[in-house]
Amino acid sequence: MKPIDLRSDTVTQPTAAMRAAMAAAEVGDDVFHDDPSVNALQDRIAAMLGKEAALFVPTGTQSNLCGLMAHCERGEEYIVGQMAHTYRWEGGGAAVLGSIQPQPLLQQADGAIPIADIAAAIKPDDAHFARTRLLALENTWGGQVLPLDYIAQATAFARSKGLATHLDGARLFNAAVAGGGDPQAQALAIAQHFDSVSVCFSKGLGAPVGSALVGSRALIARAHRIRKMLGGGMRQAGVLAAAATYALDHHIERLADDHANARALAEGLQGLPGVTVTPPQTNILFVDLAPEKAVGVVDRLRAAGVLCTGLYKLRFVTHLDVSADDIARALLILRQHL
Ligand SMILES: *Cc1c(COP(=O)(O)O)cnc(C)c1O
Repeated sequence: MKPIDLRSDTVTQPTAAMRAAMAAAEVGDDVFHDDPSVNALQDRIAAMLGKEAALFVPTGTQSNLCGLMAHCERGEEYIVGQMAHTYRWEGGGAAVLGSIQPQPLLQQADGAIPIADIAAAIKPDDAHFARTRLLALENTWGGQVLPLDYIAQATAFARSKGLATHLDGARLFNAAVAGGGDPQAQALAIAQHFDSVSVCFSKGLGAPVGSALVGSRALIARAHRIRKMLGGGMRQAGVLAAAATYALDHHIERLADDHANARALAEGLQGLPGVTVTPPQTNILFVDLAPEKAVGVVDRLRAAGVLCTGLYKLRFVTHLDVSADDIARALLILRQHL
């Protein structure tokens, strides 16, 4: 029987309809701005998020790096969460490739960096210090929705101190759908607070490849040069952009199904002895195990037919290729093996 793959929402396969859209895409050389499918996607996502321009890139890591490097020069600094993707999970790229100093700060349980800590970390204008240039936040963070009033306050504070603001919104649309109401309006309500936003098409939206950075025309022009330098200038990339456009058309509202599946998984595991479930807000469920249960558990679950990850805690991610029936089957296995 096919294993139920809950390792990440990156494991999705393009659907038949998405593949048809890819096959039909008009293409051109995107380094010359000649690819109509890429141009259409960029115009679309920029408009959706209320920005002047967008840049299509292969990965979320490159999108964030283009953003950080477009905001910060060599020797400048960005303030970022200690457990944020743009600090911890991107190979130190901002420092290695951008000569940008990270200033990581501890996040609260909800992912917010206390504004007093941001204030204390902004360096005085003095030759001893790197110049603090940017505040980078993440939403969703570990599947949690960063509170909108916090976003408004933190970005307003950053602006008052002359900092630019960047959102790693790899799963922005999960946050938008979790808010209830119109997801497009929610996404815009979040994005409006930031100078730049990075979104992934290859996570919950189910495209095989691709992310976008959105921002002002001037910022995106700088990011375009940086993308070339980083090796991300793709040619007939319209086949990939068509998948992303298809995902924007068809895969946003359905993220609510993934969230419901994550909740069902959490409810089914609640109350098992030695198992502590953090109620999921979106499509990512974290589970803590008593130490005697934790040893070798990822391998045991794999052998039983459920794939998950377990770096800090057990992590289960729901997505397009996991149905409610799969969740019911996964629960039978998990209740037996946890
Ligand atoms: C996955 C992810 C990224 C990076 O995306 P890749 O396409 O894997 O490089 C960035 N930020 C967050 C929060 C992510 O989950």
